[in-house]
Amino acid sequence: MTLPKQVRIGSILYKVEAEEALIAKAEGSTGYCNNTRAVIGIDASLADDIAHEVLTHEVVEAINYQLQLGLTHTQIAGVAFLLSDITL
Ligand SMILES: [Zn+2]
Repeated sequence: MTLPKQVRIGSILYKVEAEEALIAKAEGSTGYCNNTRAVIGIDASLADDIAHEVLTHEVVEAINYQLQLGLTHTQIAGVAFLLSDITL
């Protein structure tokens, strides 16, 4: 899977960046969502299916932030896991 260059989440256009060695720099994290810079970072070394699931996870993180849903991280991970299965 090729990552999209950007994703629109609500009214905000997030830039999607594949980052080299993100896992090492971010102490094991495979992705992140920076809501103030509107950037989603994904580790560049991930297998396609994993990168897709991580991107979906970070999109759910952004939705949780924008809508102030107050989801726990476990809930975010669960929703993202299910969504990534239907959006392939
Ligand atoms: Zn997360």
